[in-house]
Amino acid sequence: MLNFTSKINKIRTFALVLIFAGIIIMYLGLFFQAQPILMTLFMLLGFLAIIASTVIYFWIGMLSSKAVQVVCPECEKPTKVLGRVDACMHCNEPLTLDPELEGKEFDQAYNSKKKSRREN
Ligand SMILES: [Zn+2]
Repeated sequence: MLNFTSKINKIRTFALVLIFAGIIIMYLGLFFQAQPILMTLFMLLGFLAIIASTVIYFWIGMLSSKAVQVVCPECEKPTKVLGRVDACMHCNEPLTLDPELEGKEFDQAYNSKKKSRREN
């Protein structure tokens, strides 16, 4: 329901999953040692997945250097906001840089408890 996590964290999780997927695919290739073509295919796919995740990690680095650093009002830790609306990397508190969006977009995604607290 409250599936709102920081964009940078999401991409980072994806890159991590991709690394493991690449390792597993390469490992599966070891079972096809009798068929060199299949084994090469698996190795290549696994290698590509790992390369892709390296590229994604590089991309996160560039994104996070462009992201605006703010201090989360909820947990008071420094976090990065990517785009107009993003979540805190530590506590997933929704954050926005656009005052017009304040409350608006969060009404749909957040329960009445958070909403009413925001209005007080
Ligand atoms: Zn926070």
